Amino acid sequence: MTSKLIALVTGANKGIGLAIARELARRGALVLVGARDPGRGEAAAAQIRAEGGDARALALDVTRADTIAAAAAWIRAELGRLDVLVNNAGIAKVGAPSATALADVRAVFETNVFGVIAVTQAMLPLLREAPAGRIVNVSSRLGSLTAISDPAFPNRGIGGVAYGPSKSALNAVTVAFAQELAGTPIKVNAACPGYTATDLTNHKGPRSVAEGAREPVRLALLGPDGPTGTFSDDDGPIPW
Ligand code: NAP
Repeated sequence: MTSKLIALVTGANKGIGLAIARELARRGALVLVGARDPGRGEAAAAQIRAEGGDARALALDVTRADTIAAAAAWIRAELGRLDVLVNNAGIAKVGAPSATALADVRAVFETNVFGVIAVTQAMLPLLREAPAGRIVNVSSRLGSLTAISDPAFPNRGIGGVAYGPSKSALNAVTVAFAQELAGTPIKVNAACPGYTATDLTNHKGPRSVAEGAREPVRLALLGPDGPTGTFSDDDGPIPW
C-alpha cells in the first residue's frame, strides 16, 4: 500500500478538475483521475505522469451507480483507503428561469447534487480508513443565496433555476456531511473556484484553471486544525 496521499478528483479529465489533479500530483499525491470517458481520463493521467506526477485514470460517471461502485471496489482492492475526495464534476444549463426545461434542471441536479451524494456515500468507507480524510465539494458563489440576492453582485442573474440552485443544494449537502462526520478526522468543505475560463463558461471568466484550482487544493490538504463545514474561495469565507 502506498504511503502517498491518495486523492480522487471527479471530472478530472479537463478544466478545473484537471488543474486540481495536476496540482495535487505536483505536491506528491497519487491522483486518481476520475473521468466518465476512459480515453479522456487516460489522456489526462498520462499528461500528469509526463509532468512527473503519479496518476491513474479511473472510469467514473457520477450519475451511474455501476461505475461509482466499480471505482470504490477498485480503490478498496488496490489501495485500501482514500485520503482525499474532490467532488469536482459538474455541468451547467443556462437560461431564464421561466424558460428552462425541467429535464435540464433534473440533469443538472443529477450530476451536481445527486452525483456528489452518491460518490461521497460510496467513498466514505475508504475515507474512514485514512488517517485524515478530506472531502472538497466544488461549488459556486452562484449557490450563495446571500450573493445572488445582493444587487451589487454582478453575476447574480446567471445561475437560473438549474445551476445556481444545484450549488445551493450542494452547499447544504456539504454542511450535512460535515455535521455527520464531526468528531471524526474527516473534514468536508465547499470551495468556489471563481469565474474561470473553461468549457463550462465558454472560456469566459478572468481566472485560469490553475487559479480556479487554488482553493479546492488548499481545502484538500487542510491540516488537523483546519475547519469543516465551510464555504470559501481564495479570498476567504463566502456567505451561504
Ligand atoms: P468543465 O471544463 O466543463 O469540466 C467539467 C468536468 O466534469 C469534465 O471533466 C466533465 O467530463 C466532468 N463531468 C461532467 N459530467 C460528469 C459526469 N456525469 N461524471 C463524471 N464527470 C462528469 O468545467 P469546469 O469549469 O472545470 O467545472 C468544474 C467544476 O467547477 C464544476 O463543478 C463547476 O460547477 C465548478 N465551477 C466552475 C466555475 C467556472 O467559472 N468555470 C465557477 C464556479 C464553479 P467530460 O469531459 O466527459 O464532459
